[in-house]
Amino acid sequence: MRILILSDVHANLAALEAVLQDAGNFDMIWSLGDIVGYGPDPNACITRLNDFEHLAIAGNHDWGVLGKIDLADFNPDARQANLWTREQLTPQSFAYLQSLPEKLIQGDFTLAHGSPRHPIWEYILHESIAKINFTHFETTFCLVGHTHVPIIFQYDTETSRCLAAMPPEREPFQLETNRYRYIINPGGVGQPRDGDPRAAYMLLDLEEKVFEYRRVSYDIAATQKKMRAAGLPFRLIARLELGW
Ligand code: ZN
Repeated sequence: MRILILSDVHANLAALEAVLQDAGNFDMIWSLGDIVGYGPDPNACITRLNDFEHLAIAGNHDWGVLGKIDLADFNPDARQANLWTREQLTPQSFAYLQSLPEKLIQGDFTLAHGSPRHPIWEYILHESIAKINFTHFETTFCLVGHTHVPIIFQYDTETSRCLAAMPPEREPFQLETNRYRYIINPGGVGQPRDGDPRAAYMLLDLEEKVFEYRRVSYDIAATQKKMRAAGLPFRLIARLELGW
């Protein structure tokens, strides 16, 4: 089974469509949260995701838009975008976001937006935070998003060491599961933050445990134009072309 793993679409339909096209054939999507927030197409992105068989979990923006967490916890631009998004949501989109769980376990995979320890809010940016989080899930793999930065944390169960690495783009990589466990972040589709403005995602051959990390260009100007028309914050529009 071929899984398309994506996270942090952030209502960026142009980026989502580019990923869907670039991914080729797949059997299912696993979405790691923040389908909405920041971008101009929240309803269209939810509708598009629902065109496919998929698993999805909630992110902090999804909950912020719903009012399940206080918007005071967001920075001013994110708060403004969340308020705008809340006004746009159709009842169907609202119900869909309400239905998303905080965490999912699927076979040998745990899915959590931020981290297995604190699924909605924690950022796993460093090995030290990753290492603590390996004690908060029991499967071999945990898939996370939230930082919008692609990375793989590898935990050695014999030495208790945790290392961070990234594989090259568009090369299948096999993970060694006899000795190691992994926390994997595919990067962000709709608002990459690693200095590369291209949408990021991963593919997974579920039976073989073979991953592939990919980046794909999309029409950034088209998304920016919609954001300007919607009156979304300038900083959120500008950052898309910088990839941060
Ligand atoms: Zn996000």
